[in-house]
Amino acid sequence: MSIKEEPIITYSSELGPIRPPSEAYSLLIRVTINCPWNRCKFCHTYKGGKFRLRPVEEIKQDIRTAKVIRDKIKELSWKSGYGNSVKEIAGMVVNNPPNEALRNVALWQYAGGKSAFLQDANSLIMRTGELVEVIKFLKETFPNIKRVTSYGRSKTAAKKKLEELIELHEAGLSRLHIGLESGYDPLLQYMDKGVTAAEHIIGGRRVVESGISLCEYAILGLGGKGMWREHATQTAKVLNEIDPAFIRVRTLAINHRMPLYDEIENGNFTRATDEQILEEERLLIEHLDCHSNFVSDHTTNLLQEIEGKLPEDKEKMLACIDRFQSLPPEERANFRLGRRLGIYNRLSDLNDTRRREVVEQAIHKLGQDNKVDEKTIYSLMEGFI
Ligand code: SF4
Repeated sequence: MSIKEEPIITYSSELGPIRPPSEAYSLLIRVTINCPWNRCKFCHTYKGGKFRLRPVEEIKQDIRTAKVIRDKIKELSWKSGYGNSVKEIAGMVVNNPPNEALRNVALWQYAGGKSAFLQDANSLIMRTGELVEVIKFLKETFPNIKRVTSYGRSKTAAKKKLEELIELHEAGLSRLHIGLESGYDPLLQYMDKGVTAAEHIIGGRRVVESGISLCEYAILGLGGKGMWREHATQTAKVLNEIDPAFIRVRTLAINHRMPLYDEIENGNFTRATDEQILEEERLLIEHLDCHSNFVSDHTTNLLQEIEGKLPEDKEKMLACIDRFQSLPPEERANFRLGRRLGIYNRLSDLNDTRRREVVEQAIHKLGQDNKVDEKTIYSLMEGFI
């Protein structure tokens, strides 16, 4: 039996361009379109896109569509002899999806169907009552969903009353992902983030107090060569005040669709190298005095293994940086290129002869045998975003 013969191929729904790495297997429900701010210099995701709120009924229709697709996958599983186990049929759809809506639902089902992520950039901007209605409808439609998460802006969180955030939490909003990016005001201003360190703290604290789990994102390298120290120490200071459940870092990667690209071309912003960014990360971690889980799961990070629970794992995390920095220069160069080529995942991969061979061939091809060219690294990193 082929899934393509089934009428479900006609179903589709709105899907946004991104979700956090930790939501790769979540059901994606687009509650707003694009970003209501859309001015950050380091962000290209929604540039050129007009923001709009979606009517609740339109969102509910997408949730109903997801249910029809999910039911169809279940039905096919029974017909194919897999019974209640939808994994095989869901896997078939993921490998050969008739459209993105089906792929989204199938991937979510493949992973067990336990979580949902509300897109796009700032779902908190919806009227609280409407967002509550959407979350309740989602949970009624899919009682198996245990975790509902979304992106939000600190500024918007700071404008919500604590009672509103509590209402959202009680309706089922389990986690908010907020782009803190930096805690250093001159840098926030330069990047046109539209929020101050003080607002980050107010918004972040309010989310934490409401009971919603909070994940704050910081961008390594955002201060460039000029503001890296202040960026590291002030970001740590703000994070300490907020004490979110999770701190996630990602590393600045730039493409020509970002306003920051022109700043570099004009000589107003000088990028830091991987090695300098690791120094910045060291400073950030050293200054963290909170109880968060520190996560480096973004592919742009050089050392994704820098992870742990603060404060107890701080030394372990810093030891990862030590390990890299104590390597001979040619080993560091080999690792950097191997990471940016997507061949190495961890430092220990340097001992994997097969991967090493592939990296060495690639380095030779790129003409980087003697010295790493930072431009090559930057252009490889562009492929990650
Ligand atoms: S970083 Fe977030 S707030 Fe800034 S433009 Fe991008 S999506 Fe919007």
